[in-house]
Amino acid sequence: MSDTIFGKIIRKEIPADIVYEDDLALAFNDINPQAPTHILVIPKQPIPRLSEATSEDHKLMGHLLLTAKRVAEQAGLSNGYRLVINNGEDGGQTVDHLHLHILGGRSLRWPPG
Ligand code: 5GP
Repeated sequence: MSDTIFGKIIRKEIPADIVYEDDLALAFNDINPQAPTHILVIPKQPIPRLSEATSEDHKLMGHLLLTAKRVAEQAGLSNGYRLVINNGEDGGQTVDHLHLHILGGRSLRWPPG
């Protein structure tokens, strides 16, 4: 499986502003924030995209969602936030390592572009 910039962040080969870490997941601030708070939650297991996750990953998927909730609380997003998963080319995915975006700290428009 091909490596990505997120693989290098997991292995601490390149720096990132890490806000949460456990055995299965890592969360760090996005380098190009689209909201006052913009955090990425990624699995340490390099699943390229949501559409390649399988039923064997169901516990990990639940863990990522609950990790996002925990990290959002930790970030003080008590007024709400949005979770986004971009999947594939039409979804706007640019890094082929599954990640959840946590966006918050301002009122977000809907629908997204
Ligand atoms: P995608 O477009 O794939 O859903 O999101 C990828 C995200 O990763 C983008 O928001 C982009 O700013 C972020 N990103 C890309 N490279 C790096 C990096 O080296 N460090 C950090 N912290 N974020 C990155």
